[in-house]
Amino acid sequence: MVLIGLREVMIMSNMKYCQGTRCHTYDTKDRKKGSKDNKRNETRKRSQFYYGNGNFCSLNCQNDWFNTHGNNAINHFGRVEKPIILTEENAWNRRYNYHKWHGGDVDHLSDYIEVNTITREERDCE
Ligand SMILES: [Zn+2]
Repeated sequence: MVLIGLREVMIMSNMKYCQGTRCHTYDTKDRKKGSKDNKRNETRKRSQFYYGNGNFCSLNCQNDWFNTHGNNAINHFGRVEKPIILTEENAWNRRYNYHKWHGGDVDHLSDYIEVNTITREERDCE
């Protein structure tokens, strides 16, 4: 019997596989498993990934997934078939208030303002 500590159990239970459809085909040391008689390459397994919302071990794997499933995913969730429109009413964005640091009243101006992408108007943050 092999005893492992609580920390190892926690780490192992949080492990997940890269979702890349070709991850196992990239020939790196960490993907190699098994010994002499059953050598193989396996999909990467980690507690954390940094691509595609934490689902992929690399940009390559993310691209592979999209090449395999992208069209189906877009058709499933809804293909954009007419322009998505930004109008004055929904075009307010929070921006850093550059007036404050370019000759403005540092003590009284706020750090951020809202700027309208369509009209270029500015207003205080709501
Ligand atoms: Zn991968």
